[in-house]
Amino acid sequence: MRNLVIIGSGPAGYTAAIYAARAQLEPLIFTGSSPGGQLMLTSEVENFPGFPDGVLGPDFMDALRRQAEKFGAQIVDEEVVGVDLRVHPFKISTNSRVEEALSVIVATGASAKWLGLPGEQRLRGKGVSGCAVCDGYFFRGRDVVVVGGGDSAMEDALFLTKYASHVTIVHRRREFRASKIMQRRVLTNPKINVIFDSVVEDVVGTNKLEGVVVKNFVTGERTHLAVAGLFVAIGHEPNTKLFRGQLELGEKGYIRVYDQTTRTNVEGVFAAGDVRDPRYRQAVTAAGDGCKAAMDAEKYLESLAEKEGIRLPA
Ligand SMILES: Cc1cc2nc3c(=O)[nH]c(=O)nc-3n(C[C@H](O)[C@H](O)[C@H](O)COP(=O)(O)OP(=O)(O)OC[C@H]3O[C@@H](n4cnc5c(N)ncnc54)[C@H](O)[C@@H]3O)c2cc1C
Repeated sequence: MRNLVIIGSGPAGYTAAIYAARAQLEPLIFTGSSPGGQLMLTSEVENFPGFPDGVLGPDFMDALRRQAEKFGAQIVDEEVVGVDLRVHPFKISTNSRVEEALSVIVATGASAKWLGLPGEQRLRGKGVSGCAVCDGYFFRGRDVVVVGGGDSAMEDALFLTKYASHVTIVHRRREFRASKIMQRRVLTNPKINVIFDSVVEDVVGTNKLEGVVVKNFVTGERTHLAVAGLFVAIGHEPNTKLFRGQLELGEKGYIRVYDQTTRTNVEGVFAAGDVRDPRYRQAVTAAGDGCKAAMDAEKYLESLAEKEGIRLPA
């Protein structure tokens, strides 16, 4: 039996592992099919405090993994395929094993939704991005396109005007879904123009993005826009499928946590990082959450030991 199983190996999962391992809880982490999480998909991370010259996403995640291992975390490169949080100890299954755990930290992250265009994934990190806050700075003085019509797309477009010379929003409907105030800000911004009733139909470029093809639904007309950046802002999907029916989910399917802690509705189960955060979705906030979750789990285990006289393993 384990004190703590951590599901997910992004900044939240690894930070939780570092804290829990230093607290001698001997955590076990299942990394899932993307060891290192979303930052493995990016090149330079320039906004994580402590790296004045930036750090490559994969190097950063490798350092976090080594730091967790150094303190005794056990890391298993397997995907969790089932959980039973109705029993205690909880059961966590992969295709090759079932683990029992007194506490669990869910740090399974979120995935950006993409347009599904041929070439889109090839040009990710080479002009195509799902994160304006992360990548906007790389497009200083360049023209960019934002796809989407909700508040996130408006926020991204406004944010990008700080860097880009011009921002074009492409939206498939005749009106935005975004709040009126955000719409007003966008529509009155001289650096932004909007193309309604249209979709980005193709991305152009071999090793870096050189432009996009926009198709108007109404006229059928196709236009080529020469841009250096394409920001896809059509939403994120939290990776919570495993937990449906067992953990309470809130806004847009993100795990609900309580009282400014990482506690979920199930005692002994904690959630950290993008999987419970529809708002900030940054590496530094995910790492902060991982720290909180490990400390919450440690407190929970201490109270469990006191209440039920359980001697914690290790
Ligand atoms: C291209 C890109 C660039 C970015 N750049 C920046 C940046 O410059 N600065 C910044 O602050 N943020 C950046 N972000 C955002 C940042 O990466 C995320 O906010 C952060 O990674 C969230 O961390 P997390 O630990 O919550 O989840 P994630 O990083 O999403 O990790 C989730 C983990 O859960 C695992 N998992 C999922 N399902 C299972 C399962 N069933 N079993 C086991 N494991 C599972 C996955 O394998 C993965 O390891 C960027 C994001 C992207 C996509």
